[in-house]
Amino acid sequence: MLSLSIRQISRKLKDGALLPSDVCAACLYQAEKLKTLNMFVRLTKEVAEIQAKEADSRCLLDGIPVAVKDNYCTLNVETTCSSQMLENFKPQYNATMVQKLQNAGAVLLGKCNMDEFAMGSGTVDSIHGPSKNIWQSGKCATSIEHVHSVKVKCREFYQLSPPSSKGSCSTVEEDDWFIAGGSSGGSAVAVASGTVFAALGSDTGGSTRNPAAYCGVVGLKPSYGLLSRHGLIPLVNSMDVPGILTRTVDDAVTLLNVLAGYDPLDSTTIRDDFIPLDLSQDIDISKMRIGIPQEYHCPGISDEVLETWSEVADILEKAGAEVVSVSMPHTPSSIACYSVLNQCEVASNMARYDGIEFGLRTAENRSTEELYASTRSQGFNEIVRGRILAGNYFLLQRNYSQYFVQALKVRRLIAQDFARVWSSGIDVLLTPTTLTDAPRYSQFISRDNREQCASQDYCTQPANMAGCPAVTIPIKLSKQGLPLSLQLMSQNYRENLLLAIARWIESVVDFPHLELDI
Ligand code: GLN
Repeated sequence: MLSLSIRQISRKLKDGALLPSDVCAACLYQAEKLKTLNMFVRLTKEVAEIQAKEADSRCLLDGIPVAVKDNYCTLNVETTCSSQMLENFKPQYNATMVQKLQNAGAVLLGKCNMDEFAMGSGTVDSIHGPSKNIWQSGKCATSIEHVHSVKVKCREFYQLSPPSSKGSCSTVEEDDWFIAGGSSGGSAVAVASGTVFAALGSDTGGSTRNPAAYCGVVGLKPSYGLLSRHGLIPLVNSMDVPGILTRTVDDAVTLLNVLAGYDPLDSTTIRDDFIPLDLSQDIDISKMRIGIPQEYHCPGISDEVLETWSEVADILEKAGAEVVSVSMPHTPSSIACYSVLNQCEVASNMARYDGIEFGLRTAENRSTEELYASTRSQGFNEIVRGRILAGNYFLLQRNYSQYFVQALKVRRLIAQDFARVWSSGIDVLLTPTTLTDAPRYSQFISRDNREQCASQDYCTQPANMAGCPAVTIPIKLSKQGLPLSLQLMSQNYRENLLLAIARWIESVVDFPHLELDI
């Protein structure tokens, strides 16, 4: 049951073959069983049981268990952002995304683990401890025969290289497991492990796509402004978007159709009526122009990722698509530019946590200034504090034009790279999502947050600069038996085309899924 897609489970719920309360109980059981993966910050069992009881199979997500990252405000349910600063914060309202899920009949199973305030790319910097990847965790089985038959099928049709994965599922040393990716790592593990059928992440520079890629699920970053950010605790307002994590592209479409649209509570949402996506017609891939941006071939990229990238480009070409190399010359400047803009907006956004309004307040009572200082130094981790300090430095009057204004100009150049590619007739860009498969925990933490973000976000964050939609889809397993994924990007608001191509690729590669009901 837990391996089914939303579409499949919906059908069973609608025709009465399954009851919402049984599905909810199975998911709660799975969450308990996989507790050591640390995907949830909090299970919302009572809320879920009530919602499951009320499900009446009239709405799109009726009775479907979902989870949301712990930076979405949930009415009367703690929303911690994985930070001591908000450890006891209970919002008095639901984020628009949470409300829309609820209105569509979804069952909220829990709040998912993340890097503190969504700053990171590993889900290793959380007051709740790190999340672990389910792949190679010893908690699941990969369908070995399936892996081989799929590879054989692909090889015959498209002359792919021989299967690299043994599809094994050995347990990694207790203290040296594979990371889930971040910052929405808990959401990705919850979906990959069959604990929920969909989850919300957030994506400022790649935080939905990165963990989705490492955990072998679909991760969609919609166009900026298509989904409301109201009640999503901000990281970088000009780049943040709610992210969607599902097991299939079709399920991502279902979620997008539930969530998209104008919200009077978020002035940055677009006002045009949202026309629900319809992927009922199969796309004619031979009419597509696929761009391969040469600058995404960057230092540190693994041979396996490169191989996967060219295999899928070949598959598209053999199916008749025009696959062309394109240049996006400002891509290498994106990381530096992002980091300046990120820190400037962080410095401004984090000013609200003063010990008075939200969450933590230390016992310091010598002066208001001392209260602010002690609350902020105790409440934030080193990464958040570092970004606040750097941001305030960039925003000093004497530095403002040299850093902040300069970074805005570079951001414009990056967006223009995308605009040029679209106007040359490219439909979608095909790139890696991450440079390697999931690293081990020990290897990941041997570099600091800044260094990790610089390589982890290389392929993902230019899309946030331009606001364009991007989706990651799992393609195959690496030699270590971990997911390898690729990213597609399209022009803003062309999610229909983007997801139609993603679904075509998904159907051809037929990524091996985990056996979850064990
Ligand atoms: N890794 C990036 C950062 O730490 C992106 C985070 C995100 O997308 N939320 O800023």
